Amino acid sequence: MRNGVASLSVCALALMSVTPASASDCMNNPDALGVSRVLEIDTSDGPRFGKLQYKKTLDLQPKEIVLTFDDGPHPKNTQRVLEALKKECVKATFFPVGTMAQNYPEVLQGVADDGHTIGAHSWSHPNIGRMSKARATNQIERGFRTINAAVDQQIAPFFRFPGLNDSHIMKAYATRRGYAIFSTDVSSDDWRGIGPHTIIKRTMSRLNQKQGGIILFHDTKFATAAAVPAFLRALKKGGYKIVHIVPANNYGSVKSATAKTGGAEQATIAKLETAGKPEADASVAPVKR
Ligand SMILES: [Zn+2]
Repeated sequence: MRNGVASLSVCALALMSVTPASASDCMNNPDALGVSRVLEIDTSDGPRFGKLQYKKTLDLQPKEIVLTFDDGPHPKNTQRVLEALKKECVKATFFPVGTMAQNYPEVLQGVADDGHTIGAHSWSHPNIGRMSKARATNQIERGFRTINAAVDQQIAPFFRFPGLNDSHIMKAYATRRGYAIFSTDVSSDDWRGIGPHTIIKRTMSRLNQKQGGIILFHDTKFATAAAVPAFLRALKKGGYKIVHIVPANNYGSVKSATAKTGGAEQATIAKLETAGKPEADASVAPVKR
């Protein structure tokens, strides 16, 4: 963790040469919010980010924020979110669910085509914190593989536990695998069934308190999709800056890492998948955070 944060700082400095999509690049919207900078994340030692649960968060300056969207892709609402992000030339990070990616690969490909970062949010959105290690491992790995298979490019080794329900044993597993774990700094509460106006008001209030950080939304939610355009305008008005996070030197390790998985773990994963265990058929659990 300590090393991870140090690596992030180094990476941030090294990124001076990276050119983000600035507002001036937004041909049809010169007043766009844009991306302020790109931050590369070295996941090699399995860092964890988000002060809601962990000691550290991303190496962000005051007023810098990272937008994240969970649970998609959704055939309608994800598309609306993408349109809003594109209009403002903003890049975000998406944490899709494997079953959703399998059902709507064309929507997820649209996320990739727009240049957003794609991580993983499990295979079927169960409470991983309460599962056996074997089933939890299957949820994580099958999620990564399914999401990877849905798009024509490598996804990032970024993972968010469904419902933010982690466990010591699976955090240790993620560390060993070199997956960065993302919690959040600012919850939008959009999973609580609140309307667009309340989502914006509540999130901006929390942002103003914390002066930035990782924000968690759900691109499956109609109210969220409806809120995003005005929310991005509120960010611009409030002087907030968008940071786009991308994987650093280990980009693409998700696919290759499968081959590196320990023999026993890999055998367990294969056994669970070929046996068609319950989680393979489970529907997406109710959204929580
Ligand atoms: Zn979720």
